[in-house]
Amino acid sequence: MSGAPGPRLKRLRELIAERELDALLVGNLVNVRYLSGFSGTNGVLLVDLDNAVLLTDFRYTEQAAEQAPECEVLDGKNSPREALAERMPTSGRIGFDDADMRVQAHAAWLEALPDGAEMVASAGLVECLREVKDADEIAAIERAAAITDEIYATLANEGLIGRRECDLAWRIEVLAREFGAEKLSFPPIVAAGSHGALPHAEPRTRAVESGELVVLDLGVIADGYCSDATRTFAAGEPAARAREVYELVLRAQETALAAVRPEQSCSAGDAAAREVIETAGHGERFGHSTGHGVGLEVHELPTLSSRSEARLRAGNVVTVEPGIYLPGELGVRIEDLVVVEQGGGRILSNFTKDLTTVD
Ligand code: ZN
Ligand code: ZN
Repeated sequence: MSGAPGPRLKRLRELIAERELDALLVGNLVNVRYLSGFSGTNGVLLVDLDNAVLLTDFRYTEQAAEQAPECEVLDGKNSPREALAERMPTSGRIGFDDADMRVQAHAAWLEALPDGAEMVASAGLVECLREVKDADEIAAIERAAAITDEIYATLANEGLIGRRECDLAWRIEVLAREFGAEKLSFPPIVAAGSHGALPHAEPRTRAVESGELVVLDLGVIADGYCSDATRTFAAGEPAARAREVYELVLRAQETALAAVRPEQSCSAGDAAAREVIETAGHGERFGHSTGHGVGLEVHELPTLSSRSEARLRAGNVVTVEPGIYLPGELGVRIEDLVVVEQGGGRILSNFTKDLTTVD
């Protein structure tokens, strides 16, 4: 795990005070990890203005004590909620993540809570902190992005023609591990020919044929942090039409990259790519948003979308990934991972974006 949680707890406490809460109950394990460092599969964190108590069970108490030195570790035994509720203010506003907590769990917490305490819907507090990455987090994402680059370089060397999409997906998984990743950040997309027109295509048992474009969208996890990048390769000599669509997507992608900087609105980042594609008459064939935040999860905030009201901030890490999808024919997507810095966007995906023709 990267980064000291100390400053994160401090920033969270500022938000807790701002919302006039007395404590926040954090049950989403990604958020628990972000705040405490604990990476086990059972943990609930209670953060108030002075303390942080990490509730887990016998399997994890030792690991929790080691990974989360800033938290008091509590073994919940047979009545975990009651054990944690004892540490709550007897009357007070306890924030909880209403976007994550199950209805049953909510009822059980209400049952366990001290009589005078109330539960206050407070989704998004930790996610808001996670949007801005610290130096350690960015370093981990850079490592993950470098592994992704290596995988593209290897695939370009090995060639694609005659290999089945599913075998290429497995090869990506093997290479990720060989290059030092913990695992993939999502099942890779390997989509040849007309299959590339499905933005989230699943690999098939069909082999790549000469003359096809192949969309390769993949990412890995290093030190808990994700990468995400897409390259579209040409297997054999591409048709003029394929090359034309590729160049258009590349132009849209580079236009959007230039719009990635602090204070820029996220919707303007999306519009930058969309305008290029719309002007060329393919607006209807670019149906997803231009990018998303990446961190402990492969999809997080902020989102480069026409619906977003957020502005980019230094420390955001986002993808820029326009695409054009022509049903029955082909698909092209080009995706870079970018860290927002004071001077503008710094691209972490370094494998070439010139149309790579492979055997
Ligand atoms: Zn992707
Ligand atoms: Zn993506």
